[in-house]
Amino acid sequence: MDIQGVVSLQCQRCLQELEHVLDIHAVLLLAQNEQELQSFDEDESVDCILAQPDMDVLSLIEDEIILGLPVSPRHEQSECTSGGREDGKAAREASPFAALAALKKTH
Ligand SMILES: [Zn+2]
Repeated sequence: MDIQGVVSLQCQRCLQELEHVLDIHAVLLLAQNEQELQSFDEDESVDCILAQPDMDVLSLIEDEIILGLPVSPRHEQSECTSGGREDGKAAREASPFAALAALKKTH
């Protein structure tokens, strides 16, 4: 699976838009039956799923993308409009998500 593209995230420092470039390469083995699935599963270096006629490929791709997203996206220091301050007071009040992120940091 090769996934390339750009998604818009929100910088957790300045709350402005942050472009995140996706460049994901993942290998997913398709097993023909349960037996094959079990033997593949012994190898922890690969992901394996049971092949089905009506597989939801889009949701597989979605899962890969979500797994690859940064938990706390931030601009590079030089690109961030907050000027490098770790937590602007105004910014924190502007978004409940930022408040949540600040909470998480302290615990
Ligand atoms: Zn920023």
